[in-house]
Amino acid sequence: RPLTTADLEHRICVCVRARPLNKKELTMKDLDVITIPSKDVVMVHEPKQKVDLTRYLENQTFRFDYAFDDSADNDMVYRFTARPLVETIFERGMATCFAYGQTGSGKTHTMGGDFSGKNQDCSKGIYALAARDVFLMLKKPNYKKLDLNVYATFFEIYSGKVFDLLNRKAKLRVLEDGKQQVQVVGLQERDVKCTEDVLKLIEVGNSCRTSGQTSANAHSSRSHAVFQIILRRRGKMHGKFSLIDLAGNERGADTSSADRQTRLEGAEINKSLLALKECIRALGRNKPHTPFRASKLTQVLRDSFIGENSRTCMVR
Ligand code: ADP
Ligand code: MG
Repeated sequence: RPLTTADLEHRICVCVRARPLNKKELTMKDLDVITIPSKDVVMVHEPKQKVDLTRYLENQTFRFDYAFDDSADNDMVYRFTARPLVETIFERGMATCFAYGQTGSGKTHTMGGDFSGKNQDCSKGIYALAARDVFLMLKKPNYKKLDLNVYATFFEIYSGKVFDLLNRKAKLRVLEDGKQQVQVVGLQERDVKCTEDVLKLIEVGNSCRTSGQTSANAHSSRSHAVFQIILRRRGKMHGKFSLIDLAGNERGADTSSADRQTRLEGAEINKSLLALKECIRALGRNKPHTPFRASKLTQVLRDSFIGENSRTCMVR
């Protein structure tokens, strides 16, 4: 059946989540740069200065599929973003959920769970919530009879290179065969039987992501983390859910940095986020020519964008 406009509109959902002001911002009496007057409207307040130096706020209004104010918890955000995509992978589809934003905006908190305190809890992140629902769906009679197996992968893309977070950051090669099928060679696909199994893998991956770095946060904010839940039926892929904690989309700072490595990293991140934007745009219009090869991230996600039954959600 050819895709209709309504189908295409349904394929992409873009949401905004505002995080609460942190202690430092509260002490500085910072004003929130955005407010959320209703559940799909975001107002951005940009501080400006007139020629006579009087200050004012320039307000702009944007509309999204959903806008969550700082009272929304992960569960709420999950219910309106990734939750509807769980069904997609049971219906032989490909689902992708991205967290996009600057460093410190709450991407890892949303996707991976709470890592602020000593008691790190990944059970409240979107990775874990999605896994929980996958195992619930598996019990439904319709899906139970399909005899599906669940697998998980967790990897990181840093400076255009892929590292396996479930295998001590082994560096992996990405190969494209003659049919443009992209493979991450040697990526560990772990057999998971329950939510607990998945939580353990998330913990392993998260600690692997940040270990061995002098400045853990500086590193993780410059890499994309990709967590995937894969359904297989007799070994063959049935559906795949990719949940992605993107590298920080900082502007400006990278290009002015004196450090060459930092500048290169910044250029790579910009390139991959731009490629991602192009690919998502193409997905929305069902365009045949999409610049997947422009970055490792989009190359690896290619199969998730091209399928007839592909759906994407962006939380920013
Ligand atoms: P990012 O991954 O985008 O760099 P983090 O997820 O690490 O950002 O969030 C930065 C800080 O803000 C962390 O200490 C995190 O615990 C806190 N934080 C983020 N979002 C929320 C939220 N919705 N509620 C409470 N704290 C949050
Ligand atoms: Mg982060």
